[in-house]
Amino acid sequence: MSITDHLALVQEKIATAAKKAGRATDAIQLLAVTKTHPLETLEEALGCGLREFGESKIQEARFKVDRFGSRVRWHLIGHLQKNKVKEAVRLFDCFDAVDSLDLAEEINRRADEIGKTFPLLLQVNVSGESTKFGVSPAYAACVAEAINALPRIELRGLMTMAPYTDEVEKTRPVFAGLRECRDQIEQSTGLKLPDLSMGMSNDFEIAIEEGSTSVRLGTILFGVRKASKIRPLSTPDDL
Ligand SMILES: *Cc1c(COP(=O)(O)O)cnc(C)c1O
Repeated sequence: MSITDHLALVQEKIATAAKKAGRATDAIQLLAVTKTHPLETLEEALGCGLREFGESKIQEARFKVDRFGSRVRWHLIGHLQKNKVKEAVRLFDCFDAVDSLDLAEEINRRADEIGKTFPLLLQVNVSGESTKFGVSPAYAACVAEAINALPRIELRGLMTMAPYTDEVEKTRPVFAGLRECRDQIEQSTGLKLPDLSMGMSNDFEIAIEEGSTSVRLGTILFGVRKASKIRPLSTPDDL
């Protein structure tokens, strides 16, 4: 099957999950996770009308952004080291997995140097797994407030990853947990955090039922990624 076929199926599944939850389909953004895939795959994805791409490594994004540039909205979905922020603000349009105040401050500083403002999502480690990045839900409100005060940052919401499991219902409490965390932050701080980035190929329908506004899909669109050392630490081992 081609990417077009996969995309049609995915869109149907998104619509079904949205309907089941009484939500509007267009409230859910499809982020195409293109990491590890070659330029031809990205070209094909563009041809299908996909415009929001997720990459997790600077060195890989570099040549992809050079090639496709502003035809794409580039999301950084992987852990970012502080010494790479300067290049990251040049390459990416939004930071979807910011896992500390320190990092947000560095993004703010580098963004200010180039006179840009960046949308940002705070990654929360809802499942508590030690292999996952993200702030603990207990500190999320405090960190969110501090990030929101940074002038070159527009804090849009939260992001999380569920543990990989064959029993997909087990992911539900993690996604519900992120939504509850967001609701609590909004209540206690008065911030508005409309975006919830949650759900991957194996669990996006559950995530949508629990309020996801952005599903990050790689495998279901583009096939299984080849084992590669550019795979981020936070990706499930099973892939
Ligand atoms: C790789 C990755 C994805 C995509 O995972 P699939 O299971 O292939 O859909 C989503 N989110 C993050 C943060 C990733 O690193």
